[in-house]
Amino acid sequence: MDLDPDTLRSLILAAAEGVIASTPELTALDQAIGDGDHGINMKRGFEAVVGKIDAIAGQPLGEAVKMVGKTLVMTVGGASGPLYGTFFMTVGEAMSGGRRLPEDLAEIFAVGVDAVSARGRSKAGEKTMLDVLVPVLETLRREAGRPDLAAHIRRTASEAALRTAPMLATKGRASYLGARSIGHIDPGARSSCVLVDAICTKLEAHL
Ligand code: ADP
Ligand code: MG
Repeated sequence: MDLDPDTLRSLILAAAEGVIASTPELTALDQAIGDGDHGINMKRGFEAVVGKIDAIAGQPLGEAVKMVGKTLVMTVGGASGPLYGTFFMTVGEAMSGGRRLPEDLAEIFAVGVDAVSARGRSKAGEKTMLDVLVPVLETLRREAGRPDLAAHIRRTASEAALRTAPMLATKGRASYLGARSIGHIDPGARSSCVLVDAICTKLEAHL
């Protein structure tokens, strides 16, 4: 499946707008258990994506998603830049590589999640973005074909982000706090939730 350029453009812009609008929230979360830069890092990255939207949305789907990833790697910085960059670059690669949408969506998403896990040497349960990405993947696998899949994925992501609050961080900057990381939502889990939410909301409007 190739999305038409207008739909692709509106999905990428929705994701970017969601992240940019969440800057203060992501900043506050990262101030609690990190160094406070997650909001501004993500804002910088997605503003760069918006700045290139004509070039990005003019590409076939896989190439467009890869370009988003490359832009994030170059602009976001921090721990999250290479991780989100890896996610979008490998997902774009998987989309270009003969897999089909929507039937292979879970498999494509899995390629991105596995790449984040390998790059971050991390897994679900360590209070990171993977605590949203992995449950979303599980829902994609389990519930594929469900007519209200997008709404269901949004619920999965938002519940998963909330569930990071009682977790002990064992990866990334928050792990330096030890037990003091408990009681706060992980910033990267929240930004993953914002991205999933924005894309699913836009998809629901298109379907
Ligand atoms: P930094 O921690 O370098 O300041 P950011 O604040 O932009 O970078 O991003 C922090 C987020 O990155 C964390 O909330 C977490 O979700 C994610 N993160 C950090 N390290 C890892 C890792 N090893 N694996 C997966 N996600 C990680
Ligand atoms: Mg930070």
